Amino acid sequence: MHEIFPSKKKLFPRIEDLMGIFAIFLILTIAVVIPAVIVFALLNLNKIKEGADFKSFDLIWMFFVAYIIPMLLTIYLVIRHYKISPRFEFRPRYPGLLPYALVAWVLLLFVEMGITYFLPDAESKFRMMTNMVLNHPVLMFFLLSVAAPILEEMLFRGIILKYLLKKYRPLTAIIISSLVFGLFHMNIWQFVGAGLLGMLLGYLYWRTGTLFYPVLIHFLNNTLALFMVLHYKTMTPGALELHSAGQALLLIIVASAGAALALYGMERYMIPRFRRVIYLASGNPHKLDEIRALIPPSIRLESMSALAPDLALEETGKDLAANSLQKAMQIARRFGVDVLADDTGLEVDALGGAPGVHSARFAGPDATDELNRQKLLEVLQGHDNRQARFRTVLTLNLGHRWFRFEGIAPGEILHAPQGEGGFGYDPLFRPDGLEPSYAQMSTHDKNRISHRGRAMQKLIDFLKKFPPSRLLG
Ligand code: IMP
Repeated sequence: MHEIFPSKKKLFPRIEDLMGIFAIFLILTIAVVIPAVIVFALLNLNKIKEGADFKSFDLIWMFFVAYIIPMLLTIYLVIRHYKISPRFEFRPRYPGLLPYALVAWVLLLFVEMGITYFLPDAESKFRMMTNMVLNHPVLMFFLLSVAAPILEEMLFRGIILKYLLKKYRPLTAIIISSLVFGLFHMNIWQFVGAGLLGMLLGYLYWRTGTLFYPVLIHFLNNTLALFMVLHYKTMTPGALELHSAGQALLLIIVASAGAALALYGMERYMIPRFRRVIYLASGNPHKLDEIRALIPPSIRLESMSALAPDLALEETGKDLAANSLQKAMQIARRFGVDVLADDTGLEVDALGGAPGVHSARFAGPDATDELNRQKLLEVLQGHDNRQARFRTVLTLNLGHRWFRFEGIAPGEILHAPQGEGGFGYDPLFRPDGLEPSYAQMSTHDKNRISHRGRAMQKLIDFLKKFPPSRLLG
């Protein structure tokens, strides 16, 4: 694969960058908390002199500032320092995914409950937080349910995961981002909850490319916690009475399997509805058939005739790559769609590589496949060297990125046409190591060894590494 107009971005984030981000957040928090404590102490000097317990003060404002300011500053500094442009996407796309995502989220809450059974009791750790929610439910709603989901999703999914996905395999990237998200909460209980939630939110972001689902589920998650506190007056209500480690383990296994099943259902039944449409920049129905037989189910390939029935594409490039790009660009520019273009040539050794880029017009401007074949047989008369190769150059345009894939199939030119199938020069071409001509093979068999099949295989391998969200329409 060759990217035609590659971008030259730095490969952020390394593990030390992630630790740095965490450190920056901590330092900023301390830098905000210290002056806030001083101001607070000055304002409450009298009470302090009287010996009031620090815990009895209402610290809501400090809590507020000490979260929002460092968080905003961290996001700002990371973008500035690494010169990245994350372009946060919040659009509510692919609404059919929501029910599956919600089921997975609820089941993960049960997994969390199961794991929490094995952790020490957390009641005393969250007392301050519980009191703040009970005393200031509206402010805490704003902080926990509005500010935290938006800011944390921007940082952990919209920046950290987005760039991790460019470097690591999806699962690795999602796990690292969830671990960082868990660690950021700085206690074992939330590490478990946030870590698990982070896996789901990371998966949804990777899948859809929008922060909409992560923010929404993060919002629901935190709002549920808030309501639980208001209702049970504690942060750690025992929603399910687990009596033994066995029960907890069973819950973990069943709920994890259920969550995985929900995501599988989403992949199987909902994602295919949002497949990306790619238009083939060719009016040749044979090419469409061959490529359709190979294109992965995540993509819908349409003929360009669906856009413009009688459009004739110019092919004036000096080689196959230039022609292929030229064809793709004409469709992409005119209709603003994603395009796949194929330019193919037959290169015959005895003819110094001709007809090559001129294969379509070998017998003249109005050449038909039949006339081209006749001409080829004529010019090769008396030649013993019949070695030749088909070469295909595919150009794939996805959004604003352009990729090129090449496939070559060596073979020889027969002395007379053989077979009725295929198109173009197929009846005259016998691929190396095989008996029949291309025209005697099924589409499936031709695709396995052909120039186009080989180029397509490279394209398919490439698409496997491509963010799946980019393959949604
Ligand atoms: P183009 O890629 O559409 O410009 O095709 C160039 C020429 O090669 C045309 O004459 C096509 O009929 C021929 N051609 C393209 N692909 C194949 C193939 O897979 N088998 C045989 N002929 C082909």
